[in-house]
Amino acid sequence: MTYPNTQLFINGQWQDAADGRTLPVFNPATGKEIGRVAHAGKADLDKALEAAQKGFETWRDMTPADRSRIMRKAAAFMRERAGEIAPLLTQEQGKPLPEAKGEAMAAADIIEWFAEEGFRVYGRIVPSRFKPELRQMVLKDPVGPVAAFTPWNFPINQIVRKVGAALAAGCSMLVKAPEETPAAAAALIKAFADAGIPPGVLGLVYGNPAEISGYLIPHPTIRKITFTGSTPVGKQLAGLAGQHMKRVTMELGGHAPVIVCEDADIALAVKSAGGAKFRNAGQVCISPTRFLVHESVKTEFAEAMARYAQGLKVGNGLDEGTQMGPLANPRRLTAMTEFQTDAVQKGAQVLAGGKRIGDAGNFWEPTVLVDVPLEAKLFNDEPFGPVAGIRGFTRLEEAIAEANRLSFGLAGYAFTKSLKNADLLSRRVEVGMLWINMPAMPTAEMPFGGIKDSGYGSEGGPEALEAYLNARSVAVMNV
Ligand code: NAD
Repeated sequence: MTYPNTQLFINGQWQDAADGRTLPVFNPATGKEIGRVAHAGKADLDKALEAAQKGFETWRDMTPADRSRIMRKAAAFMRERAGEIAPLLTQEQGKPLPEAKGEAMAAADIIEWFAEEGFRVYGRIVPSRFKPELRQMVLKDPVGPVAAFTPWNFPINQIVRKVGAALAAGCSMLVKAPEETPAAAAALIKAFADAGIPPGVLGLVYGNPAEISGYLIPHPTIRKITFTGSTPVGKQLAGLAGQHMKRVTMELGGHAPVIVCEDADIALAVKSAGGAKFRNAGQVCISPTRFLVHESVKTEFAEAMARYAQGLKVGNGLDEGTQMGPLANPRRLTAMTEFQTDAVQKGAQVLAGGKRIGDAGNFWEPTVLVDVPLEAKLFNDEPFGPVAGIRGFTRLEEAIAEANRLSFGLAGYAFTKSLKNADLLSRRVEVGMLWINMPAMPTAEMPFGGIKDSGYGSEGGPEALEAYLNARSVAVMNV
C-alpha cells in the first residue's frame, strides 16, 4: 500500500518548504513512519499570505455562478477519487476504510450544498423613514482572506466545512491542516486545484501549529480565523484574534450527554448511541460520552451496550471487516489509560474493555463503564476515545441538570417515546445540536456548532455563510 509525501500548496503550486524542512507521518495501526510532510517556515507563510490576498481579489470579483461551477467540479473529483483517497486517510489516521471513503464522499455533498448556497448571498433594500428618494441598501461582502486551523480526527471533513462556506461567500482561505494526517487534506485541496480554482484562493500549509497561528492571526492580511480543536487551544486563539479584532468561528470540544428515558426503545438507543460512540474510535467532537440512563432500564441498557462493544471487530482499518481502528496517536492511548484508571479507582465498574490491545499500534478496547462517579475525570473532561460512561437517574429534571452541569455545550442525544419528554429536552438541554431517537446526522444544510465552552459560530446552514460575510450599510440620496 503506497502513501505519498505531502507538499505545501501556495499560489496554485505544490511545493516543498523553502528551507526543505519536513515532519514524519506515522501509521497509528503499526506505529511506523509512512511518509513526510513539508514544514512551512516564515518565508512560505509570507508567500502564502500574499497569494491569499491576490486570490481573494480574484475570487471576490467572480460571479456566484462561476464560483459554483469550480466548486461543483471539485465535488465531482472528490466523489470520483473517494476510493483512492480512503486508503491514504486510513493509513495516516486509522479509521476503517468504509468510514474513510464515507468522509471523502460526504465532502462532495458538503461542497455541492455550499456551491448552491453561494447564489443566495442576498442583501436588502430598506425603505427610508425620512424620504422616499433615499435608497438604503444592506450589502453582504466577503470578509477577506481567512486562516483555518483544523485537526486530525476528520482531516477532510473539518476542512471542507470551512472551505465550502468561505468559497461560497467569496473569501480566500489559507488552511493550516493537521501535520499528523496530511495526505487526505491535500487530496481535498487537490480536487479544487484540479477543478481550476485560481491561484491563491486556497492555500495549504503544515508546520508548527502554535508558530503558524501566532503569525497568521495577527497578520493584517487575514480578516477571519476559524478553528476546530480543543477548548483550551480555542480560547487561546480566540483571545489572540480578539486582540487583533479578527472575526472568529470556534468549533471546540464537547462532552455529549445521552439521556435514555424509562420509556426509551432500548435496542434503538444501543444501536444508535453505540454506533456513534465507537465511530472513529470515539475521537469525534459530537461523540456520545455521558450516558444518563433511567434507573429502571439502566442494567438492561448497560449490558446491551457492553455486548455491543464486545461484538465490535477492532483492527487495522485497511483490513476487511474492521469496525473500529486504532486511536490516531499515542497521546490518546495515554489519555485512555488515565480516564480508565481514575474511573475504576473512584468506583466505576468495567462491563467491557478497559485496556490497550497488544503493544504495536494505538489500539484500545471498546470500553463500557457503569456507575461512574460524577467526580471521575471521565464525567468531566472530554474523553475523545472509545469509552462509554454510564450513570443512572430517577427524574428527568435530574438528568437534564447533569447534562447541563459541564461548561461544554456541543452535542446531545436523548431516547424517549414521550412527546412531553422530547419537548422538555429540546428546550432545556444546553447544546448546539440535539438528536432525539437517532444517531448524530449532521448535514451541510443544518447548523453545526456549539454553545458555552464548545465555541461559537456555525459550520452548516446559511449561518455558516454569514460567518464569512460583512453586512455593510450604503445609503444613496437620489438628488
Ligand atoms: P491539542 O489540544 O494540542 O490540539 C488540538 C488541535 O489543535 C490539533 O489539531 C492541533 O494541531 C491544534 N493546535 C494545538 N495548538 C495550536 C495552536 N497554538 N495554534 C493552532 N492550532 C493548534 O491536542 P491533541 O492531542 O491534538 O487533541 C486532544 C484534544 O483536542 C482532544 O481531547 C479533543 O478534546 C480535542 N480535539 C477536538 C477536535 C474536534 O473535532 N473538536 C478534534 C481534535 C482534537
